[in-house]
Amino acid sequence: MYLIDGKEIAKKIRSEVKEEVKALKKKPHLLVIWVGNDLASQSYVTSKEKACKNVGIETTTLHLDEDTSQRELIQIIQEANQNSNIHAILVQMPLPNHMDERKVIDAIDPKKDVDGLHQVNQGKLMLNMPGIIPATPKGIMKLIDAYNVDLTGKNAIVIGRSMLVGKPIAILMLQRNATVTIAHSKTKNLSELTKQMDVIVSAVGKPKLITVDMVKEGAIVIDVGINRVLGTIVGDVDYLSVADKTSRITPVPGGVGPMTIACLLENVVECYRFLEDK
Ligand code: NAD
Repeated sequence: MYLIDGKEIAKKIRSEVKEEVKALKKKPHLLVIWVGNDLASQSYVTSKEKACKNVGIETTTLHLDEDTSQRELIQIIQEANQNSNIHAILVQMPLPNHMDERKVIDAIDPKKDVDGLHQVNQGKLMLNMPGIIPATPKGIMKLIDAYNVDLTGKNAIVIGRSMLVGKPIAILMLQRNATVTIAHSKTKNLSELTKQMDVIVSAVGKPKLITVDMVKEGAIVIDVGINRVLGTIVGDVDYLSVADKTSRITPVPGGVGPMTIACLLENVVECYRFLEDK
């Protein structure tokens, strides 16, 4: 078993972004909008701010009350779209229940949509056209490339079908000629499927969803899940028992997580270039 060291690869990407930012005329500027008081969101926002600062990206965080109306939020986004000093906009999910996520995301200018969730960017991804790719699937593909994994003809399963992770990673692997199965909460006999797979990507958020009996000898396992169990962070994979059976596996923490942050930084610079290098 070889560990897929996301920490190490992310470090390299971060230092490349830092050099790139140094050479830019202006500092790229990311606006983070966080609505409500979700504790996990707070820690994600803080780590994104810190990562930006470390590579010279400017951030502004707007923390809005839980009872902010959707209309007010969309108005703030529209003002940020018009503000030439803001290059990238990130609306931290989840939003409060009274808001329609899709309407809020689609209010962002697609060129400033750093998370790649706007319908234009999701459509471009589907069509294999250049656009902003969500940071987590982008990071997973970079891990796969860093370890020279050729996906051609491989049987791959993606567990989870969110627009943030599951669907985009399935499309990206399909573009690399893998034979992709997408599983989700209504899938029957998940273990019968996973046992046949050369590559397993789990993006569910359920500890020990993937156990040793579900994994083929020599499979590559990418664990996207983040779960808090008794004060520690674990993935979806029962790592201790599964790892030895795999050819390559991502640890949690230290696998996909750091790559997500590194690719978010890359996406900020990409948004900057859309606006400044016209
Ligand atoms: P989500 O809640 O939007 O989607 C979860 C998916 O899991 C759904 O599509 C659902 O159908 C599927 N699912 C639920 N129960 C299942 C089951 N028993 N069997 C098979 N499928 C099942 O979540 P998301 O935003 O896609 O995130 C998924 C996980 O990845 C979460 O733990 C999240 O914290 C984590 N995540 C990690 C990173 C990272 O950088 N490592 C980034 C984003 C998300």
